[in-house]
Amino acid sequence: MNKKIWLSSPHMGGSEFLYVKNTFDTNWIAPLGPHVDGFEQDLANYMGEKTHVAALSSGTASLHLALIILGVQAGDEVICQSFTFAASANPIMYLGATPVFVDSEELTWNMSPEFLELAIQDRIAKGKLPKAIIVVHLYGMPAQMDCIMEISKKYNVPVIEDAAEALGSTYKGKKAGTFGDISILSFNGNKIITTSGGGAMISNNEKWTTKAKFLATQARDTAPHYQHSHVGYNYRMSNVCASIGRGQMEVLPLRVYQRRKNFTYYKRMLTGISEIEFQKEPNEDYFSNRWLTAILLPEDENKITSEQIRLALEKENIESRPLWKPMHMQPIFASFDFYGDGTSENLFKRGLCLPSGSNLSEYEIRSVIKKIKSCFTLSLVE
Ligand SMILES: *Cc1c(COP(=O)(O)O)cnc(C)c1O
Repeated sequence: MNKKIWLSSPHMGGSEFLYVKNTFDTNWIAPLGPHVDGFEQDLANYMGEKTHVAALSSGTASLHLALIILGVQAGDEVICQSFTFAASANPIMYLGATPVFVDSEELTWNMSPEFLELAIQDRIAKGKLPKAIIVVHLYGMPAQMDCIMEISKKYNVPVIEDAAEALGSTYKGKKAGTFGDISILSFNGNKIITTSGGGAMISNNEKWTTKAKFLATQARDTAPHYQHSHVGYNYRMSNVCASIGRGQMEVLPLRVYQRRKNFTYYKRMLTGISEIEFQKEPNEDYFSNRWLTAILLPEDENKITSEQIRLALEKENIESRPLWKPMHMQPIFASFDFYGDGTSENLFKRGLCLPSGSNLSEYEIRSVIKKIKSCFTLSLVE
């Protein structure tokens, strides 16, 4: 069996281990610690002057706290992009709130501003203004943030920007993760940089990141005895994880360069196959970190499908993955309201994510391309 080629695997830069060693040498093996503060500062510097950061245990925990901070309670409605990973929507359920799903548009594959506005108007007509909008930048591609923020302001519904996949992406020169009233990042093992597991909540509003840190450490009031006036959580990032993150931040620009290089290489080598379409940057306003290279195939039974390619790659021990199955098609979420026209469903049926790690060797990426090409040449012979 060939050595496994992963979809997206961790890629250490080298200095991570020095930070981890320092953590061990100083015995800061704890949640909180100097590297948590340092990692937050590194992220804030990267995002821009006005941003404040709370380093947390995961992207999911960050979304949970963002919803709490925006006042979401049981019975409230929260609008969520349907075409995403389940972690975007699960925290709505933790709070006993109701998700309302919105479809994607074809340009970026992210939340359709038209259906967003339609959804808000319809919820208002039904008697309830949604409490928040969760928008996602899938595979690193920025959503149409100008239109979405305009709608958010028009109806006075705050935006939570799920930038878990988009650290390093920009829209109109502004970094993903700086658009929402609150934004979140993930440092899970397969993301563009990793802390093994971790996340962050980001906002221009320092009160909110301070509140996130408070809630994430069991909501202890300032008193020598343990006193609590809020329900708290154990969601803080550990100092060990943060020390990995500090090393990873040093190589983030390089990781974006490497992932984009993978995309360009796939695109150049596969242009001859007219059936394959790539997730496009619609124009120069959009800059994707190309976390994952995503392709589309025709939905035609007489042609090679994305599933056939996935299986052919799997035979060679190459991991690829269908696009996210939209939330409104998931058994757990199917009963909730959905506003759309089938765009995300169509993308889901046709799409595939190719191995995209920044540590893919040239030999590995060539073998992926060779296998994909062979699917098409074989079909010609048959
Ligand atoms: C990975 C991911 C999350 C969750 O982050 P975790 O750190 O794994 O909890 C949330 N939203 C999206 C879009 C993701 O890709």
